[in-house]
Amino acid sequence: MQVVYSTAHLGHDVTHETVSGESVPAYEVAERAERIRAALEADGGFELVAPTAHGDDPIRAVHDPGLVAFLETAWSEMRRQGVPRLAMIPDTYPNPAMFEGMSEDARDRLREPETLAGRAGWWGLDTSTPFVAGTYVAARAAVDVALTAVDLVLGGQRSVYGLCRPPGHHAARSMYGGYCFFNNAAIAADAIATTTGERVAILDVDFHHGNGTQQIFWRRGDVRYVSIHGDPTRQYPYFLGHPDEVGEGDGNGENLNLPLPAGTTNAAYLGAVERALEAIVEVPGSVVVVSLGFDTYGLDPLGDFALTTDLYHDVGRLVAATGRRLVILQEGGYHRPSLGENARAWMRGVDGRPFDPLPVAGFTGGGTVA
Ligand SMILES: [Zn+2]
Repeated sequence: MQVVYSTAHLGHDVTHETVSGESVPAYEVAERAERIRAALEADGGFELVAPTAHGDDPIRAVHDPGLVAFLETAWSEMRRQGVPRLAMIPDTYPNPAMFEGMSEDARDRLREPETLAGRAGWWGLDTSTPFVAGTYVAARAAVDVALTAVDLVLGGQRSVYGLCRPPGHHAARSMYGGYCFFNNAAIAADAIATTTGERVAILDVDFHHGNGTQQIFWRRGDVRYVSIHGDPTRQYPYFLGHPDEVGEGDGNGENLNLPLPAGTTNAAYLGAVERALEAIVEVPGSVVVVSLGFDTYGLDPLGDFALTTDLYHDVGRLVAATGRRLVILQEGGYHRPSLGENARAWMRGVDGRPFDPLPVAGFTGGGTVA
């Protein structure tokens, strides 16, 4: 299998994020992608390829040009405004209740602030997504990784893995957040739909609901979004990801959310995967985009499922058994010691190769993680 990878992600070298008001070491760090790259190289069955540049147009097809402009200029603007920090994290966001009672006309007159703190709140979702000097270049490269994987699959490859970092599925049309800046999977799906004229399905198996992907395709009939995730009543992104969110307009019935409880086991998870794949193969078309996260793993510090490495081999095998070509894009996964093995298991499942997992330090298998 070909694996698209760029060293540009190393420039997004965040060190801290804010959780419940406290500065903590960042979870979404460069080591994540490097561990996966190293494991796939050691396996010997994968070929690393560099991405090619795809320009702004595929990004602007999915994202608000204002968000693109903000992310492109934020770092230099921070320097110009003399903000003496190594990373920018806003603290004030436009809660919709701030505008309650205002007419649509009055809301249309709301505008992006001029200072960086205000602009970052205007476009941002949360305090867990700092940007640093190399963030924009890394985020652009992650899009190119995704679009190069699309090129390879449309060019005849059966399955290609885009090792995207930063991830993308929390980024909405006009919002960054959840460690995500541009929505790599949404940009890939839109490019496939545009290029082929076919319908496209997105299978999101990150632990978290891909609120950004859902928002982008909410009213579109040509892209079906199916997500298995921790129930938002207890987990980020909290405000979206419920089963009654099914899409509207042309997108009515094209959005399927499958939230799961804490402690979800391999067997229960496989049941959800089967249900998701039934919804995927109902859609005509030849390509599935997979938003792949390993924060479903039993030891993940952000997730609360109890999945094991061998389960990932099964899921990869089942997704490939749909017969669809796969553009597999990396999203989350924060238990660093297991990331390489989990990715290797998934991809070997897709490739139809057996898998003998190496033991992961500290993991006894199954169980709920605090
Ligand atoms: Zn996640």
